[in-house]
Amino acid sequence: MTILDPVALAQALIRCPSVTPKDEGALDVLEEALKPLGFACHRLPFGEVENLYARIGDGAPLFCFAGHTDVVPPGGQWKSDPFGGEIRDGVLYGRGATDMKSAIACFAAAAARHLAKGASGSIALLITGDEEGEAVDGTRKVLDWLKDKGKRLDHCVVGEPSSVAAVGVTIKIGRRGSLNVRVTVKGVQGHVAYPAKARNPIPALAALATRLSEHKLDDGTAQFEPSTLAFTSVDVGNPATNVIPAEARAQLNIRFNDRHTPETLADFIAGEAKAVSQQTGCGIDLEYSLSGVAFATQPGAFSSLVANAIQSVTGRTPAFSTGGGTSDARFIVQHCPVLELGLVSATMHKVDECAAVADIQRLTDIYAALLDAYFKNPPQ
Ligand SMILES: [Zn+2]
Repeated sequence: MTILDPVALAQALIRCPSVTPKDEGALDVLEEALKPLGFACHRLPFGEVENLYARIGDGAPLFCFAGHTDVVPPGGQWKSDPFGGEIRDGVLYGRGATDMKSAIACFAAAAARHLAKGASGSIALLITGDEEGEAVDGTRKVLDWLKDKGKRLDHCVVGEPSSVAAVGVTIKIGRRGSLNVRVTVKGVQGHVAYPAKARNPIPALAALATRLSEHKLDDGTAQFEPSTLAFTSVDVGNPATNVIPAEARAQLNIRFNDRHTPETLADFIAGEAKAVSQQTGCGIDLEYSLSGVAFATQPGAFSSLVANAIQSVTGRTPAFSTGGGTSDARFIVQHCPVLELGLVSATMHKVDECAAVADIQRLTDIYAALLDAYFKNPPQ
């Protein structure tokens, strides 16, 4: 029987400075923990990104834990080495302590406990080194690889920090979509003293920003908050005080719910831009880049099973949420039902990122309860 200490494994993972897209030995550390448990480990490098797919068991159903070993840069001034994995007063400090090396350690420790009971069932870990970056050579490519090999995941839990207050308070059942838009307004350059001979793109851009910002996209849906549109930059870059510039640029981001698709949003923005263009005579170019569409796993047998596992450990009934940023769950949902359950999100991406040792142990308990319940009575 192999006992695996999730806190020691989390420390070992934090000690690999795996800032995206670097691996720095993080997946080796994980492999060394998983192999003695009987996991078959497949390293799947794509581009400059290292990925790991580890599996134990041949039968169906196949339950998958998913996550990432890459981290964002430490930034600012830390109280201790961001890659030191130091424990002070029962709290583990380090980049990745909550997002999300500790959760990966909890996956492995929970699997070890499940297997140590002689329990059967097929468990996979899908771990990427490319979540915090472009997310091009990570989870998406591993899922394609699985599909090509005819392997199917039945259910998946992503270990992203999912709760604000305490472990198990919230399960993420989906995420809003995210669309970035670059706006370029084209006028006619000229002397400020002769504005009639120029066409100033700045008032046109201001008009478009006002129209878009004041528009209410929706009132929210059963599973989602209202969609939001926010301008993130306005750029003219004109050092001269006596020149009306030829161009003004801006960018905006829309976090959208299941009322919208990227296409309907692009139609809406193009329509507003056309109206402003007609009023002002300025041309308006729009460029879109999509980070992900809105998705949600419908509440049902799988979400109940995860909620019950949390309840059995913490005594709390978790809430279902679709808040927060994007995650790799947006790719996994195209393959199987996926939920997100991890540590407390309070310090993710911040200086002095940390996780309480007790929380890491509690999350391991929850994942272990989840595996037991899952293989006792797999959800359809
Ligand atoms: Zn993360």
